[in-house]
Amino acid sequence: MRTTWVKKLDGGLSRLTRDLLRTMFIEDKIATDGVSLILDRELPPMIVKISLCSILGDEDALNDMFFTLGASGICPCGVLCSVTNKPPPTDTDNNIPSMSELDPEIQDISCADLALCHELCDKDVWARCDQLEACIDKKVLDEKERCTGIKFNPSTLLFCKELRVFVGPSSTSTGDPMHIIFANGILSMEIMLCMASVREEVDAYFEDVRNFSDEKKYRPKTTCFSKYREEHSHATLKVQASELLSDYPLLRAYLVTVYGVNATEPHIVSILLLFEICDFIRLLLKHPPQCEVQEISHKLQGLCKKYIEAFVSAYGRDMVRFKHHQLLHFPKQLGKQGVMLSCWVTERKNKAAKLGMHHTGNPAHQETWPDSRITRCACSKRLGG
Ligand SMILES: [Zn+2]
Repeated sequence: MRTTWVKKLDGGLSRLTRDLLRTMFIEDKIATDGVSLILDRELPPMIVKISLCSILGDEDALNDMFFTLGASGICPCGVLCSVTNKPPPTDTDNNIPSMSELDPEIQDISCADLALCHELCDKDVWARCDQLEACIDKKVLDEKERCTGIKFNPSTLLFCKELRVFVGPSSTSTGDPMHIIFANGILSMEIMLCMASVREEVDAYFEDVRNFSDEKKYRPKTTCFSKYREEHSHATLKVQASELLSDYPLLRAYLVTVYGVNATEPHIVSILLLFEICDFIRLLLKHPPQCEVQEISHKLQGLCKKYIEAFVSAYGRDMVRFKHHQLLHFPKQLGKQGVMLSCWVTERKNKAAKLGMHHTGNPAHQETWPDSRITRCACSKRLGG
């Protein structure tokens, strides 16, 4: 429903984001005049000034909000850095070299070193936007859009000059680590790749993981590697992100038992490093103190680099997904914000809203019914059904 309606709007979700932020920062002046809050009736109201710390989302949401091309374009990282995407299969088939092959200064998404990826600051992004805006020739504009990864539309967020003081694109854009790793992320893909190699090498597969779990009486009993899941998984392991988050230690225990802690097989090295990153994410979900977050951010910078190098050496550059590159930006974003921001909890709450929208085909009713349904749903949950 949301997708259908938003398509009718010039600039789509980016325009909605722009309008929302304009209301907050330009009309309501929450950063300059502030918001008046009464915290104590005996005391005068307190003025709280609010600034924007982060725009958080998965890959699609960030592309929609910033109106960038994402993984479908040559420059997938849009407002964060200048890496290029993998060349399309047609180019590879026709032996057309990619930009990073022609120029060693240009890195693609398989680069493990963020320092080589030409990170962008807010001013760089706005300069690119201004260049797009100044284009008169349609052909030149198309080419510039492809090269920058930014789509030109004056109604969208990046082209609102008044907002530039309050909304920095690269300083606020934050990839959600839960979507990068757990929710249809790199972990479910890597598990399938690794298990394919394990089957080839030692003739073991998910059934052996299940047997290992039974033998070791692994508790709580997991469903992540069940026969059903095994039969329905191909390129990625089809499980819920929360299951993956709680069950990956079982797979690690199994692999370490088979290969040893100091395994040198590339696919084992790679997945063990990814598991180490997952361990830090689990720690961060418990909201550790600031000094610990900074320490984790520092450790993750080296670990993510090491992991991407190991992944490329195990499976080759062609298997790298844009999410691997997003992971490379995560430690710095974490250090800057001092807390791990994720869509984890809020996304789960969307379920109530989606339930409220069911069986509502009439657009007029869509405006009135969901409110009461969602309220009823929330009340009945609070009152225990
Ligand atoms: Zn990037």
